[in-house]
Amino acid sequence: MFDIENVRADFPILGREIYGRRLIYLDNAATTQKPLRVIAKIREVYELYNSNIHRSVSRLAAMCTDEYENARKIVCEFINAKSTHEIVFTSGTTAAINLLAFAFGEKFVNRGDEIVVCESEHHSNIVPWKLMCERKNAVLKVLPFDDSGDLKTELLDTLLTERTRLLCVAQATNVLGTVNPLDEIVRKAHEKGVYVLVDGAQGIQHVKTDVNACDFDFYVFSGHKIYAPTGTGVLYGKEHLLEQLPPWQGGGDMVKNVSFAETSYSDLPFKFEAGTSNYAGAIGLGEALSYLIYIGMDKIHSYEKDLTSYALEKISSIPGITICGTSASKIGIASFFADGIHHADMGEILDKMSIAVRTGRMCAEPTVHHFGLTGLVRASWTFYNTKQEIDSFCEGIEKAKKILTN
Ligand code: PLP
Repeated sequence: MFDIENVRADFPILGREIYGRRLIYLDNAATTQKPLRVIAKIREVYELYNSNIHRSVSRLAAMCTDEYENARKIVCEFINAKSTHEIVFTSGTTAAINLLAFAFGEKFVNRGDEIVVCESEHHSNIVPWKLMCERKNAVLKVLPFDDSGDLKTELLDTLLTERTRLLCVAQATNVLGTVNPLDEIVRKAHEKGVYVLVDGAQGIQHVKTDVNACDFDFYVFSGHKIYAPTGTGVLYGKEHLLEQLPPWQGGGDMVKNVSFAETSYSDLPFKFEAGTSNYAGAIGLGEALSYLIYIGMDKIHSYEKDLTSYALEKISSIPGITICGTSASKIGIASFFADGIHHADMGEILDKMSIAVRTGRMCAEPTVHHFGLTGLVRASWTFYNTKQEIDSFCEGIEKAKKILTN
């Protein structure tokens, strides 16, 4: 195990007070806090070598380009991709999925073809596919989950057909926290010749990720959910698939030659990185991953596992509180409702106790509707949270209940 106090000291925001009390940050599924190393790295870019990448001949530009391409190498190794050609920097998961929905749709999807998404997906892994299906006259099909939050994977045997082109599934879901059984899902999809996109927005920071060993065709994640700057993210794709996809956006850096008659595109991954990218952010993403490697991903995983069992047991034992999502395989998320209390009221009272949580539909309306609800309160923790914070959170829920039911 690591020294939790040392880890917490790496995240300056955790030491601040809100309403005169020490912040208890339990909204990590929305975004994570940033360690000093990442903050310092961003500062370093702007203080020491800021210059537009891949373009200028200056020493400064070469330094900045080297740092950016080094960040790509770090991402490549972190997810065990085969080559840096397979790592496309984007502004986040949403941008990566929209890129893929356009390019995959253009190349692989025809009228009457099918795309399968899961009922428990975030809107970012539903709406781009819906838009693409409308554009290509394709059919969007849904793999449902059961009341514990586990996908009904047995239905894949009939849901996947010879017309199915792609199956889109989260590594871990953002409301219920279920870690989906990707080995089984990928195997079933590949048996039918269906490609698989895995949305790692809630997975990469909590679950060991090896895109190569797991045979994912496409994998996406957001930097800001893994302790990196906002406006960063990654689309991973197997090289032979990315090679076949047309570019999404046109502009500088993604072309080899341009004339009014003909345009040739850059090699991978630059074909998909049009315009000046968020290079400072991407360099910060590389730094965040290096920081995690320094702490030790195995240590992080075992600390989080222990904290999650503790938290789920404590929260679910509070009378009148029901957690939605009781899968045996969960990341650190508890989305719950309190009998007779509106989720927004609960969230507001907790905030006044300096406890930050998320409330509402959490960009996953189909999931919330599955339980016949209009919203939930979501607490989400990570390796810098503590059992003491979970205790204070549970006391906060008890107090909020008293205030709101009196
Ligand atoms: N997918 C999942 C599972 C998420 O939880 C989120 C954000 O909460 C997204 C996609 C969208 O991520 P972003 O807003 O960083 O693009």
